[in-house]
Amino acid sequence: MEFLRPLSWEEALALRAGRPDAVPIQGGTDVMVEINFEVRRPGALLDLNPVRELAEWEMAEGRLRIGAGLPYTRLIEEVGDRVPGLAQAARTVGSPQIRNRGTVGGNLGAASPAGDCHPPLLAAGAQVEVESAAGGVRMIPAEEFYLGVKRTALRDDELIRAVWLRPAEGPQHFSKVGTRNAMVIAVCSFAIALHPAERRVGTGIGSAAPTPLRAAEAEEFLAGELAGEPAWGRSLPDGLAERFGELVGRAAAPIDDVRGTAAYRRHALAVMARRTLTWAWQDRLAGTGRS
Ligand SMILES: Cc1cc2nc3c(=O)[nH]c(=O)nc-3n(C[C@H](O)[C@H](O)[C@H](O)COP(=O)(O)OP(=O)(O)OC[C@H]3O[C@@H](n4cnc5c(N)ncnc54)[C@H](O)[C@@H]3O)c2cc1C
Repeated sequence: MEFLRPLSWEEALALRAGRPDAVPIQGGTDVMVEINFEVRRPGALLDLNPVRELAEWEMAEGRLRIGAGLPYTRLIEEVGDRVPGLAQAARTVGSPQIRNRGTVGGNLGAASPAGDCHPPLLAAGAQVEVESAAGGVRMIPAEEFYLGVKRTALRDDELIRAVWLRPAEGPQHFSKVGTRNAMVIAVCSFAIALHPAERRVGTGIGSAAPTPLRAAEAEEFLAGELAGEPAWGRSLPDGLAERFGELVGRAAAPIDDVRGTAAYRRHALAVMARRTLTWAWQDRLAGTGRS
């Protein structure tokens, strides 16, 4: 197996174009497991670690641009207060060792329906910046990035460069059900982001369909119910969180597997949606969430 080590982003794109069989590797917390368990044996690995800019973040055009290679530990410490939903999700990933190596770019590249970054990226309306030597840059909305189980909109010659999202404009929460508290793949997960300026709520569902997805009907329902200006300054109307939860449960397309049944996942999603909406609303009323 060849080991390709580009020293710059341009060199990485050129190598990617010339060696479509080369598997990109960043933290390696997915790739090395697959190689060790002989799930795949690529002709070459394209090591992105020497491309230092991938491990950086910046504010640009009022948005946060998080490099695909920024490890979770640094994401939590350095930008966690600006993207609390994503930071909450990042804190649940694996163990400290995994969080020191693993990255959002790797989570996107792996595109497991259970990946913890996907729900908060969907809820926040993130965009994925991808690039190829021949095609240049494409900005892909998170909800268009996931095409199927471990399948993405990334073309053979493209690499993920960064994720863009606006700093939180309102409270955000992430919730995950697992068979234990740490080092666990989500049985299902849910993220919510309030966007008070737009009178809108963003959602993301994980591990309950072939791809991560938004609960569009639940979002529309809440936006409709909370359309009036005063509603956003008052307590949640009775029954609203329950109905929201039901609609989130209905949006999922889960399966029965070793981690849980479809029925359990729908139920758990409804509970998580109700709870996270209630927490987010309490944050808003208490002024502890951004607005
Ligand atoms: C013990 C253990 C526990 C884990 N726990 C969790 C968990 O709780 N939650 C969770 O979501 N995940 C978990 N994971 C999975 C993994 O840690 C995450 O998916 C992590 O985000 C992968 O990041 P990475 O940088 O290590 O990716 P890598 O392993 O380097 O790459 C992952 C995939 O993305 C591709 N890729 C990487 N960078 C790019 C790029 N710039 N452009 C294009 N493609 C790219 C690779 O080719 C590969 O297909 C766990 C893994 C282990 C081993």
